[in-house]
Amino acid sequence: MRKRVIASTAAVLGLMLAVPASAGSAGPGAAGIGDPYYPTYGNGGYDVSHYDLALDYRPETDRLSGTATVSATATQSLTSFDLDFALDVSAVRVDGRPAAFTTSGEQELVVTPARTVPRGHRMTVTVTYSGVPSTVERYGFTSWQRTPDGGVAANEPESAWWWFPSNDHPLDKATFDVRVRVPAGEQAVSNGLLVSSHTARGTTDYHWRQDRPQATYLATLAVGHFDITHSRTRTGVPVTNAYSTGLAPALAANARAGVERTAEIIDFLSGYFGPYPFDAAGGYVPNVPSHFAIETQTRVFYSPAVFAKDPDTSVVAHELAHQWWGDDVSLARWSDIWLNEGFAGYAEWLWAEHEHTGTPQQLARQVYDAHPADDPFWTVEPGDPGAQNQFDDAVYDRGAVAIQALRTTVGDRAFLALLKAWPAQHRYGNGTIAQFQHLAEKLSGRDLGDFFRTWLYTPAKPPVLPAP
Ligand SMILES: [Zn+2]
Repeated sequence: MRKRVIASTAAVLGLMLAVPASAGSAGPGAAGIGDPYYPTYGNGGYDVSHYDLALDYRPETDRLSGTATVSATATQSLTSFDLDFALDVSAVRVDGRPAAFTTSGEQELVVTPARTVPRGHRMTVTVTYSGVPSTVERYGFTSWQRTPDGGVAANEPESAWWWFPSNDHPLDKATFDVRVRVPAGEQAVSNGLLVSSHTARGTTDYHWRQDRPQATYLATLAVGHFDITHSRTRTGVPVTNAYSTGLAPALAANARAGVERTAEIIDFLSGYFGPYPFDAAGGYVPNVPSHFAIETQTRVFYSPAVFAKDPDTSVVAHELAHQWWGDDVSLARWSDIWLNEGFAGYAEWLWAEHEHTGTPQQLARQVYDAHPADDPFWTVEPGDPGAQNQFDDAVYDRGAVAIQALRTTVGDRAFLALLKAWPAQHRYGNGTIAQFQHLAEKLSGRDLGDFFRTWLYTPAKPPVLPAP
């Protein structure tokens, strides 16, 4: 994500005590996956492998309805389990049998199957639902933006609740089929490859498929009128971009001038991070009033506002870097957000160097010098910023300076090897800052304990910016 301007609502969360069932005995799955920042996000007791969504969306009323089929394996014997969801549910089945359900807290859908689900069992959960997502608020906001011609789901970390039930945490990644019926003449845009689109009797059915593991917050859906463009990266990855036809002409021109460089920027970043991890790429610019961009997997969400002044390619480089740093290798817990935003910010500096607008060392020096030691900027620890500061400037800017300081400390050879080794080692999985530090130490042959403490875990300005 880059620069969420809306204030994040304070998530006032009761302490959820996750009590896992002891071996052999059946019990309820935990209401949260165990994230220290967001105790109720995600759930315990099962692991999802696939979401198949069959949806119908009506732009004129903003009504979304459909059925989600969730394929999951029980990791404990389950008498009940939770999904995270905010729309109205009319029916739930587990392995074809009607299941009881109720809601709890802000976004818990509690499902009680007719029979206990044994540990290790592969279950199929179908949830039938509907709602007007732009009117549904959780923690005081909705992540569904209604547009003049449709609607869009994109936000971080909360986005899925407004359009499909899920185990909503990056620890549980899954593949996706997204099928959406819309009025003929409208388009539906989602992640991955377009499998088919079929128009009959006044409606069009779109079917998108994401066949690589994807975190739930990286799933996106947009319905509206779009101009679609196609290109390919150097290695042949198809790039599909979509631009709302409702954008003002100057804005649309800027957006295209930036986003149409997607293939070129992926080629550039592949030189640093290794092969592009997915079989599709692209971005879309819907007609929304928000100001942020987010790295929705293989199809980046860009608010038109990010292109208000010029064809900003640094935001494109930022979001595309996330395809490696965040999407391919995802957080294991939200407190490790530096692994996403620090590196996406650093990628902007690599791209700036390519575009001759500054070297990473010059740009790091600018940030370091711009904030005197008594600036509150330095009180946010990028390695553990707190849920309230998860998207604070310090995570991005101090986070990127830390990466340049790491480069200077370990030398180019180890640093450049590290940028490729991390995605290669954790492909389609998760990683922690501790694991990253371990890999950096292994590749550089240095103890980096003091370095990481100074740059990521101290609420004060590091006394020196290392010079090459
Ligand atoms: Zn970002």
